[in-house]
Amino acid sequence: MPRNRLDMTPLKALAVKTSAERKMTDAELLKLVNKDRREDVRRRYKTIGKSSQRMYARAAAGKLSPRAAIKLHCLDCVSFVREDVKNCQCFACPLWAYRPFHKFRDA
Ligand code: SF4
Repeated sequence: MPRNRLDMTPLKALAVKTSAERKMTDAELLKLVNKDRREDVRRRYKTIGKSSQRMYARAAAGKLSPRAAIKLHCLDCVSFVREDVKNCQCFACPLWAYRPFHKFRDA
């Protein structure tokens, strides 16, 4: 049994790191944010709906996948109404083809 990450395969080490990050609280995640941005991020965090705060904290800390960050951005854009993301009519938006909650069509 490996005693530390150096004894593990890279994939196993990544899995351990990811699992440790998943256990972090939102407050711990927000502490990872660069101190120049931290106050702005904390203020914004408080205005976001409870159901998306976790995702926001992970994004702000740079711990979210680009795909999940796009999802969060789209939700934020339409005040967290999933149906509005799905039916977004802002066809010129550069994220339009990547927005979540819709079936992929020609971009
Ligand atoms: S695709 Fe639509 S919902 Fe997503 S960021 Fe662009 S305008 Fe907002």
